[in-house]
Amino acid sequence: ELMRHADVAMYQAKAEGRNSAQFFNAKMTERAQQRLQIESRLRHAIEQDELGLHYQPRVDARTGAMAGAEGLLRWTSADLGVVSPAQYIPIAEETGLIVPIGKWVIEHACAQIALWRQEGLGDIEVSINLSALQLRDSGLVDALEASLRRHAIPNGVLEIEITESALMESVEANLQQLQAIRRLGVGLAIDDFGTGYSSLNYLSRFPLDKLKVDRSFVHDMLDDPTNLAITRAIIGLGHTLGLKVVAEGVETAQEVDILRGADCDEFQGFFFARPMPAHELPAWLAARDADRKVLVQLAG
Ligand code: C2E
Ligand code: MG
Ligand code: MG
Repeated sequence: ELMRHADVAMYQAKAEGRNSAQFFNAKMTERAQQRLQIESRLRHAIEQDELGLHYQPRVDARTGAMAGAEGLLRWTSADLGVVSPAQYIPIAEETGLIVPIGKWVIEHACAQIALWRQEGLGDIEVSINLSALQLRDSGLVDALEASLRRHAIPNGVLEIEITESALMESVEANLQQLQAIRRLGVGLAIDDFGTGYSSLNYLSRFPLDKLKVDRSFVHDMLDDPTNLAITRAIIGLGHTLGLKVVAEGVETAQEVDILRGADCDEFQGFFFARPMPAHELPAWLAARDADRKVLVQLAG
C-alpha cells in the first residue's frame, strides 16, 4: 500500500511539471481513480458511438455574417454521463487515445461539411482542434487526405487549430507537418494565443492563416486595462503577420464594441452562439440572416 501511495504521489508530481515533490494524500487516490475510470471508458467511446461534435459559429466583425464554425468534441459516456473536454482531453493526450479520437474528429468534420453542402448551405468553413501528439503522428497527413478525398472537400474549407504551446513544443518537426497539411488545402489557426511562449521568429515561419486570442484576455478586458492592452497588441501582431484575428470567448455586446474598435476580424463566443449540435446550425443561420436584414433596413 505504501508503494501504491508513493506511486500516486509520483504521478501527481509528474503531472505538475516533473520538477517537483509531492506528499501523498487521500484526495490523490480519488483523483487517480477518477482518471482510471475516465481512461477505461474513453477506450470504448468510439466503438460505442459515444462521441459527437458540436459546432460554434464564428462571426465576421464587419458583416455580422457567419464566417465559419469550430467543431468541438463532446462525449456522453453510458456510465459517466456527459464528461467535459477539460477532463478527458488531457487524459486522451497522456494515453495516446487522442490519436484515434482525433482521426474520428477529422472524419466526422469532413462528413458534416459534405452534408451541409448537400443541404444547400454552401461551404461552411469548419475548424477542428489538434493536439501536439497528433501533430507528431506520422499518419496524420494521410488521415486528413483520406477524409478530405472521401467527402470531396474543396480547398480552404477545413481548418485545423493548434494551441500556441503545442505549436512551440517542437518547432522544426511541426514546421514540416504543417507545410504538408497546408499542401492539402487545409487552413491553420493558432489557438489560445497569448497563453504560451511564442518565439516571434518562428511564428512568422509557420504557414498560419488565423490567430485566436485566448478568451482569458477577452474576458478580463473590460476590468483590466492590461488585458485590454494585450488584446490590442495581439490583434496588431496578428495583422502585422498577415493573419486574420479571431477573439474567443466573446460574451457581451460591450466586448464586441471594444474588439470591433480594435480592428478584430472575427468573433466567437456565447454572445453569438454556444456550441450546438450540427442539426441546429441551419436554424441559427437563418435567424442570424434575418436579424442582419433588419439591421441593414434600419441603417438604410
Ligand atoms: P478551445 O479550442 O479554445 O475551444 C473553445 C472553448 O471555449 C470551448 O470549450 C467553448 O465551448 C468555449 N467557449 C466558447 N465561447 C465561450 C464563451 O463565450 N465563454 C466561455 N466561458 N467559454 C466559451 P470546450 O468545448 O469545453 O473545449 C475546451 C477545449 O478542449 C478546447 O478549447 C480545445 O482545446 C479542447 N478540444 C475540444 N475539442 C477537441 C478536439 O476535437 N480535439 C482536441 N485535441 N481538443 C479539443
Ligand atoms: Mg479551438
Ligand atoms: Mg481556444
